[in-house]
Amino acid sequence: MKLVIAEDDPTSRAMLQAVSSQWGYEPLLAEDGNAAWDLLHQEDPPRLLILDWEMPNLDGVALCARIREVQTTDPPFIILLTARDKPIDVVTALDAGANDYIIKPFEPIELKARLEVGRRMLNLQSRMAQAHLKLAYQATHDPLTNLLNRRAIMSALELEMDRAGRQMYPLAVGMCDIDHFKKINDEHGHLVGDEVLKEVSRRISSALRPYDPIGRYGGEEFLILLNSCGLQVTPPFERLLEAVGGTPIIAHNVECRVTLSCGVAVFEPPQDHRDGTALLAAADLALYKAKDQGRNRTLFEPPKTEAIAPAKLVSN
Ligand SMILES: [Mg+2]
Repeated sequence: MKLVIAEDDPTSRAMLQAVSSQWGYEPLLAEDGNAAWDLLHQEDPPRLLILDWEMPNLDGVALCARIREVQTTDPPFIILLTARDKPIDVVTALDAGANDYIIKPFEPIELKARLEVGRRMLNLQSRMAQAHLKLAYQATHDPLTNLLNRRAIMSALELEMDRAGRQMYPLAVGMCDIDHFKKINDEHGHLVGDEVLKEVSRRISSALRPYDPIGRYGGEEFLILLNSCGLQVTPPFERLLEAVGGTPIIAHNVECRVTLSCGVAVFEPPQDHRDGTALLAAADLALYKAKDQGRNRTLFEPPKTEAIAPAKLVSN
């Protein structure tokens, strides 16, 4: 583990470097607080620090305070080292944000033990940060398809509508449904059905831009939000239908020919005053009509004059 040693006295610095290397740390040396601050801003920065209090330019306590001003989920562990031994000094250092305090002269064995505490704390902290990230991902994503879950895509709809309203560009809201999906489950079982859902999700994602929000709205229903596409709202849905229906999906050795039907409502601020519910209802209506007119197609509500070619069905 990298260890910052900020100490202006060369003898003490060399001693700390020697012992910490022996204990398995990778010491990075700084002769004052500014040099230590610079070390914290390199790539993969060190998180364990020994700071001398008395240093030129920027002292240890001031550096501590400066480090703690930075909002982070992964704060460094700071041990303050000083000859000052009054209770008020300890309080000052801890108040400035030091995690621990060692009074010179000290026994190396004590420093070693305190560094170990720091290492343990940092490991625990990063495990907790990872767990937190994982929970946040799980709370917003569908476990089968890894797309946004229904709650998250609904939040995205609100957010995108806000943004479209502010920046005055259209937002296409697409409700897409796998055609005859129930038949796949009935004929081949849910394992095959799940595999098809996963592959369709992958194909939808790859057909769109990486930043377009895509969510699993219901069982085999997906909600897609395309912003800023202006008059080019049709091609992405053509690509989508082609990506899903263009080649069969092989799931657990079963060849499934799958197509998609999409219903799209385009939100066009500033003259468009519909809310999210009204847009979803319009997209739903368009989807219903697409199903009614033979599936494997995209329809708009209100209808667009240009028709969208259905994906070429694979014949064998
Ligand atoms: Mg000093």
